[in-house]
Amino acid sequence: MTSTVGQVIRCRAAVAWEAGKPLVMEEVEVAPPQANEVRVKILFTSLCHTDVYFWEAKNPLFPRIYGHEAGGIVESVGEGVTDLKPGDHVLPVFTGECKECAHCKSEESNMCDLLRINTDRGVMLNDGKSRFSINGKPIYHFVGTSTFSEYTVIHVGCLAKINPLAPLDKVCVLSCGISTGLGATLNVAKPAKGSTVAVFGLGAVGLAAAEGARIAGASRIIGVDLNSNRFEEAKKFGATEFVNPKDYNKPVQEVIAEMTNGGVDRSVECTGNIDAMISAFECVHDGWGVAVLVGVPHKDAVFKTHPMNLLNERTLKGTFFGNYKPRSDLPSVVEKYMSKELEVEKFITHTVPFSEINKAFEYMLRGEGLRCIIRMEE
Ligand code: NAD
Ligand code: ZN
Repeated sequence: MTSTVGQVIRCRAAVAWEAGKPLVMEEVEVAPPQANEVRVKILFTSLCHTDVYFWEAKNPLFPRIYGHEAGGIVESVGEGVTDLKPGDHVLPVFTGECKECAHCKSEESNMCDLLRINTDRGVMLNDGKSRFSINGKPIYHFVGTSTFSEYTVIHVGCLAKINPLAPLDKVCVLSCGISTGLGATLNVAKPAKGSTVAVFGLGAVGLAAAEGARIAGASRIIGVDLNSNRFEEAKKFGATEFVNPKDYNKPVQEVIAEMTNGGVDRSVECTGNIDAMISAFECVHDGWGVAVLVGVPHKDAVFKTHPMNLLNERTLKGTFFGNYKPRSDLPSVVEKYMSKELEVEKFITHTVPFSEINKAFEYMLRGEGLRCIIRMEE
């Protein structure tokens, strides 16, 4: 086998040429990694709603290679990379950790100055250019990961080195959605044992938030979703009660306040819908309730609530990636799976070969299933 180190690699990638149009399987050229970059062979990737949202959006960068929930193996590293070497197993993360800025040094933040999520950037930081091209025409990156390609180039700060014994076809889902939901509850909402938690949106992220509430010992976990098909599934993740806002002719926050004698202790919003975000805030109990926003809102969304809701001692928070620092914390989330403290299999409802990646989009758009694993080698 000839080495690919330092060479351009030609491989398959699923390219989005236009908003909302099916991805097209293309042969792309992937340039070698530059300083502080790593070229990764992706083995498994899955689809998260954030990919779908930016693929649907009217005005972003095209052509683009989406994908940010994945697992792979390091093929080669650029200058200055000492933490990773070829053969290491890695999970790419859409938000990074430089380990040097004030945020990385703070115990409270994972919003790295250099590598925090930036959905508007389609190029690498090093030289402001893309590493992907087709016949010399650049193809944009997405959130620094672009995992819908057999090979991709990623900043070293956006890669978590994990236990090589962890099965990548399972733990790839920890690189975004599951860690995000779990961390939103355990690291940010922090429900006390015996408390009441509402989870808005019962996709993979919301069900991971429910799982977090169960692990924390919440006694009531109220799942809220417009899709009643989600409710049966949600029981496996600890949900004890369900509310479909469509079944009532008053705001869902009022329904929840009545069910809970004034409101829940904690709520976690995992829908991306602005009205659900407002309801998730307004349904927490005055005096101590905390609401955590996780869903990625539409560009023009505005959060509107009466300031009295805050004066009455409710707290509103938000988080990316469940406040986990990708390099420092994600390897230990993988270990939770290895020690069977955390189950990920129940989040994986479909698998498709890479050539059928558009099916994964169809499942998500129809609200069918949770995570669909896309196998790069079929
Ligand atoms: P998903 O599509 O699988 O699940 C979303 C669920 O929300 C669906 O079941 C849908 O029926 C429900 N829903 C939509 N509108 C609703 C409303 N008004 N009220 C109640 N339920 C409603 O998506 P997912 O992959 O689980 O992602 C969930 C959200 O989290 C998305 O917005 C995604 O972009 C976001 N996300 C954020 C982060 C982060 O770090 N903050 C990371 C990953 C995903
Ligand atoms: Zn995601």
